[in-house]
Amino acid sequence: MKTLPVLLLLWVAVCSAYPLGGATKDEDTSMDLVQQYLEKYYNLTKDVRQFVRRKDSGPVVKKIEEMQKFLGLEVTGRLDSNTLEVMAKPRCGVPDVGQFDTFPGVPKWRKTHLTYRIVKYTLDLPREAIDSAIEKALKVWEEVTPLTFSRVNEGEADIMISFAVKEHGDFFPFDGPGKVLAHAYPPGPGFYGDAHFDDDEQWTEDKVGVNMFLVAAHELGHSLGLSHSTNTEALMFPVYNPNTDLARFRLSQDDVTGIQSLYGAPTASPEEHLVPTEPNPPEPGTPATCNPALSFDAVSTLRGEMLFFKDRYFWRKSLQKPEPELQLISSFWPSLPSGMDAACEVISKDTVFIFKGNQFWAIRGNAVQAGYPRDIHTLGFPPTVRKIDAAISDKEKKKTYFFVEDKYWRFDERRQTMEPGFPRQIAEDFPGVGSKVDAILEAFGFFYFFDGSSQLEFDPNAKAVTRVLKSNSWFNC
Ligand SMILES: [Zn+2]
Ligand SMILES: [Zn+2]
Repeated sequence: MKTLPVLLLLWVAVCSAYPLGGATKDEDTSMDLVQQYLEKYYNLTKDVRQFVRRKDSGPVVKKIEEMQKFLGLEVTGRLDSNTLEVMAKPRCGVPDVGQFDTFPGVPKWRKTHLTYRIVKYTLDLPREAIDSAIEKALKVWEEVTPLTFSRVNEGEADIMISFAVKEHGDFFPFDGPGKVLAHAYPPGPGFYGDAHFDDDEQWTEDKVGVNMFLVAAHELGHSLGLSHSTNTEALMFPVYNPNTDLARFRLSQDDVTGIQSLYGAPTASPEEHLVPTEPNPPEPGTPATCNPALSFDAVSTLRGEMLFFKDRYFWRKSLQKPEPELQLISSFWPSLPSGMDAACEVISKDTVFIFKGNQFWAIRGNAVQAGYPRDIHTLGFPPTVRKIDAAISDKEKKKTYFFVEDKYWRFDERRQTMEPGFPRQIAEDFPGVGSKVDAILEAFGFFYFFDGSSQLEFDPNAKAVTRVLKSNSWFNC
C-alpha cells in the first residue's frame, strides 16, 4: 500500500525528464501544473500524461470539465483564464475527487468523544493563539453534532495536529508558500484523522496571511470524515476564501447536513455540554415563554447555546433546536443567585461570568469555579458603581463591555485591566441605544440590547441600530 505511491512518483519524474517536441517552455510549465492539479485533486491517471500535450484529448477535457463543475466555474472544457485563476489559488491538499488514501467502509469515528494533540507548533503565532484557533475550530463541529473533544499533551490522540514543511513523513509533501495550505486524513487508527499544516505559509489570526482558524476548521472537517463540497459557500469547499467574514463565521447548511449525516444532530439531553445536578421540570407559575411583555435579567451565550435568565429560571436555546427549554438556575448551578444583573461568556477562557450586586461568579459548563464570588471592584470599578446592568465580551478584540446606567466601561481581557478613558456615554458610542440596558447578547456579529420587552439589534461596524425586536424574538413564538 505504502510503496505504490513512491513508485508512481518516480515514474512521473523519469517521464518528465524526456524532451518534448513542439511545445514552448512556458506552455510546458503551465501544462505541467495543470497535469499535476488534475492528478492530485481529480484522480487523473498518470498514463494520460501524453494526452495533456494535445489539449483536445478526450480524457483530459473530461477531467477539466469535472474540475470546472466541482469548483463552480463555467464548464467549457478549456483552460480559460477564470479556470487558471482558480487553479492558482491557495487550497487544501485533499483531493476533490477520489480518496486521499483508501480506508474500507464509510470513514467516520465510531465514538463521540475524541482526543486531539498539537504535536508540533509553528513559530508564526504564539502557542496560545494556535491552541485557541484549534479549540474554536473544533467547537464549530461540536456545536452541530454530539461530538466532544478533549486535548491531550502526550501519547497517541485520535487527531494529531502538526506543522511541517515539504516532505514530512507521509506521501504528500508540502510545496512551499502558497498553493497547498494543509491536508488531513479521514477517521481511522494511526495517522488517520491527523491534520498537517504547511509551515511555509504565514499563519495568522486575521487575514494578512492564511487564517489559522479557517483552515483548521476545514481540515478538522476532513478529520471527522467530510470530503470536499462543491458548494462555494461551504467551509468544506476546497479553495481557501480570504474574504470570509471571520467575525460572523457560520457553517453553511451544506456543512451541517454533511456532518450530521455522519453523526446526527447534538443530543437532545444536555449531557456533555451542561449537566443538571437534578433534572428539574419547571413547576407551575413559571414565566411564560411567549408572553409579549417578557423581559430578561441577563443574557449570555454558553458553548454555542444562548441563555436567557429571569428570576430563578433560564431558557436554553441552541441554534439547532427551535424550541427553547426552560430550566431552574439551581438545577444547573446550585450556588448561583437568582435575579442576576448581568452575564457574559468570555469564549477564550471558556467561562461565563455572572454578576449580581457587587459580586461576580465564574462558571464553566455546569461547574461554578473555586474562589468565587469575587467583588466587582477587583475588576477596577470605582466605589460608586454598586451593580452592573449588562455585560458583553467581544471575542475578536478580547474586550468586555460593562454597562452601568447611562455609561459603559471596557475591560481588556488580555491585560486583565479596565481600559483608561472609560466610562464613556452609551449614547455617544452606541447611538440609538437608550440609557437603560437590561441585558446584551452578541450573535452573528450584531449586539442585541435588551430593555424591558424590547430589543435593539445594533451593528457595531455601522454603529447603528438595524432592527427593533421583541425581547423573546429568539423563542420562536
Ligand atoms: Zn480540504
Ligand atoms: Zn501530511
